[in-house]
Amino acid sequence: MILRGPYLTCQKTGLLRYWADGVIKISGQGMIEWAGPWSDFLKKFGAQRQSKVHDSGGLVVPGLVDAHCHLPQYAAVAMGGEELLPWLKRYIFPLEKSFEEAPWVAHYARHFFQELIRSGTTAAAVYATIWKDSTDLCFEQALQSGMRVIMGKVMMDRYSYNDHFRRLYPSKSRKEISLRESADLCRKWHGRDGRIFYAFSPRFALSCSKELMRDVGQIAQSYGVYIQTHLSENKEEINAVTLEHPGYPSYTALYERCGILGPKTLLGHSIWLNSREIELLGKTNSSVVHCPESNFFLGSGIMNWRALAAHRVPISLGSDVGAGPDLNLWSVMKQALYADKMARVYGVHGFNGAAVKGSPPMPLRPEQVFYWATLGGAKALGLDRFAGSIEVGKSADLTVIDMSTVNPLPPEMEDLMDSSSGALLARLIYRGSASMIKAVYIQGRLQYQRNKVTPRVF
Ligand SMILES: [Zn+2]
Repeated sequence: MILRGPYLTCQKTGLLRYWADGVIKISGQGMIEWAGPWSDFLKKFGAQRQSKVHDSGGLVVPGLVDAHCHLPQYAAVAMGGEELLPWLKRYIFPLEKSFEEAPWVAHYARHFFQELIRSGTTAAAVYATIWKDSTDLCFEQALQSGMRVIMGKVMMDRYSYNDHFRRLYPSKSRKEISLRESADLCRKWHGRDGRIFYAFSPRFALSCSKELMRDVGQIAQSYGVYIQTHLSENKEEINAVTLEHPGYPSYTALYERCGILGPKTLLGHSIWLNSREIELLGKTNSSVVHCPESNFFLGSGIMNWRALAAHRVPISLGSDVGAGPDLNLWSVMKQALYADKMARVYGVHGFNGAAVKGSPPMPLRPEQVFYWATLGGAKALGLDRFAGSIEVGKSADLTVIDMSTVNPLPPEMEDLMDSSSGALLARLIYRGSASMIKAVYIQGRLQYQRNKVTPRVF
């Protein structure tokens, strides 16, 4: 297939590439064979039969990468005004508990992945529930969706759904069951179709014993798979972790000593870190997932991305649904920009001794958040060989955007608008929504088309 139309992508350098009249040539296997301006395409390949060239129908951008979301929590979006721990107890644990043997899990999971695609997301790192069977059904739907998915069964051997936050001493059998079931799912799903990958998913330090976390570190390394967890999201959580796991210099040091940091580890939130913790993340090449929309919703805080970037910690973006109310990463990009503006006003970058010295830093730019949501996210997830940008040799994971829903002026007046790549991107981020997504391709296959009527099943 030859797709002709404007396209916008970021490059390894972080800079944008934009062609107002571009071409993306896609092989039968769904890989990008050639990409560039139409004039160069004509010079190289000559005139093509008209039937082979398809109008893209809008601006083409790479599929987005959501590096942190919770499948079962989609039903609880926009609920509650509490902070993290009471919110988990009141809304999330009862909901996740209900996935144990629910007949609707497969249907629900199918809807969840369809909604991700409808938002222009083509790769995601996902938490399921602690239940093995329902996680297995979620994997089945991830496979059917066509997406690239890193997922895992949530691991909790203390403070689990039944006991919430009552003090419970870790039980050996609970730990063994959690490890065995996770390992079973990992062997079954990791590497399936080259698109499905396993992440051992200890929820956070409060719901995991040290013994469980140590075993996770060893097993994940021996299988060569991912680890995803939460780090320093909320102050009350950090205080509780200090009480539950005394004797460690910090939350991050606890993870490090349990062996769960490393290049395949994704750490959600990572807000309240001191400079030593940030150094430790850089040294271990662990990556953090910035979830600004969720951080605003639960009033958790603002992540110090500058200090993390200064230590070369890879950064990606996450919707963190259900604390984040929307799977739409365009909205998450906007919240990342607003969070940075607030941080500059209130001096958030001076938290915990991790201040940036010298003159006030430049504001976070739309190009940077777009990089986190595309190529940077793919890199953090180890998927950048296949995904994250419009480049020869990569999979054609593409989103087509209807710019008429984003531009304030009608087409005949568009000359009055700045149509540079930076202006286009800023409009997408500040004015965009899931309704601007016209079509989504994954590996060259059309996975979503707006206005396409799906037949009702009776
Ligand atoms: Zn989360």
